[in-house]
Amino acid sequence: MPVKIIVPTPMQRYTMNHEEVEVGGATVDSALHHLVENYPDLRKHLFSDDGKLRSFVNVYVNDDDSRHLQGGETPVKDGDTLTIVPSIAGGLDAVGAGGAPSFHLQQNPDMMDLSNYEVLRYSRHLIMPEVTMEGQKRLKAAKVLCVGTGGLGAPLTMYLAAAGVGTIGLVDFDTVDLTNLQRQIVHRQSTVGKPKIDSAEQTLKEINPHVNIVKHEVMLTSENALDILKDYDIIADGTDNFQTRYLVNDACVLLGKPNVYGSIFRFEGQASVFYATDGPCYRCQYPEPPPPGMVPSCAEGGVLGVLPGIIGVIQAIETVKLILGEGQPLIGRLLMFNALKMSFREFKVRKDPNCPICGEHPTVTHLIDYDEFCGIGRGNEGEALTTGEEISAREVKAKMDRGDKFTLVDVREPYEYAIAKIPGAKLVPLATVKDRLHEFDSSDEIVLHCKSGRRSADALQILKQAGFKKVKNLVGGINAWSEDVDPSVAKY
Ligand SMILES: [Zn+2]
Repeated sequence: MPVKIIVPTPMQRYTMNHEEVEVGGATVDSALHHLVENYPDLRKHLFSDDGKLRSFVNVYVNDDDSRHLQGGETPVKDGDTLTIVPSIAGGLDAVGAGGAPSFHLQQNPDMMDLSNYEVLRYSRHLIMPEVTMEGQKRLKAAKVLCVGTGGLGAPLTMYLAAAGVGTIGLVDFDTVDLTNLQRQIVHRQSTVGKPKIDSAEQTLKEINPHVNIVKHEVMLTSENALDILKDYDIIADGTDNFQTRYLVNDACVLLGKPNVYGSIFRFEGQASVFYATDGPCYRCQYPEPPPPGMVPSCAEGGVLGVLPGIIGVIQAIETVKLILGEGQPLIGRLLMFNALKMSFREFKVRKDPNCPICGEHPTVTHLIDYDEFCGIGRGNEGEALTTGEEISAREVKAKMDRGDKFTLVDVREPYEYAIAKIPGAKLVPLATVKDRLHEFDSSDEIVLHCKSGRRSADALQILKQAGFKKVKNLVGGINAWSEDVDPSVAKY
């Protein structure tokens, strides 16, 4: 009986870029095992060593989470669709229960006044029965914190400012980089090099000078998160890393605030509203983060420039709906968007009674060390590289100049090789390294490189496990080569 399995983008490199795979199987488990038999490299991404499905991977049978059916034992039949929904670096069974959650703003909207100028500015809102003067005053009274002013934060904050949200808090400590401008439309050519929160403030003030912008130029940490978040009604999560996602989630649960969530990768996005008071939280959906390095970041994997526009705007709409108390929020629902197919799919998210923070017996009662929780800095990215296994771009250049005998291997993709390359490098994309080991001479010294040094570190582990002894990783990848050796090689 063929069952269709939809493979998410980050895992498609292990399925020879197939997005849909048909397999046999009578249960979720047997279908997934057939899948990994066909694509063995996928196994470690789906299953742990003891054969259990990894906890950061959720499998949906049609639109329902298999964990809430019979788990791996859930029967599947001809024509069913299994969708693998992993976490990406981004309840109340409320579906049908109807209505927005009751939600009190910290500032009393009745105390807000709108000037005649504001009445005119927001007139297209005021004549909508779902908004009216009352709703516009709620918007003015509302305080929304946007964590991150990047791809998601840009459209999100711009629309919130235009809609008249009275106070918008911004958390960011980064500066505007040229590579941001392809999608982070709140930043401009003229603000490259400036702090992102100043750049964002400038744009938002130009959109709507009535908005109060509160700037938090810090990295959100367990020490400062509760203090920063407590003054806001709604938190919108536009971050790009798992540590901050779990931190934002936990702080929101502890403070009883809704967390308007969005995440993006290449041409796929997710959005939801995690509000533990009324439904599930992010941990209910993704109890554990993926191991570091398993899910590529946008910097490593890329992202379609327009995509965060869609997801950030969905976050803005959900935020406005919560403030107005109108409509059915995305609480208990995960919305997945695929830009290539131009399709939206919706999945149920249920509150997990055993959730460590919002469940019946929470074990997480205060903010924890999220770097540790996410395995950052513990060498979990496979074996930690020793310094002897690293080599700088300048050292590689010196070896070339001396005429040392060594093989330089580029483990990036052919389309990256077409952007920029180091002369003399042999292209062996990471996914093919295992199958092309016979092309390497183990008596030769081998220097591996990629864009930033991350994928080549994975390749180094593969070579070491295959018995290669003289292997080195070019620290900082081709971008370091461009910076330190040859600026004519384009950075990307
Ligand atoms: Zn939870």
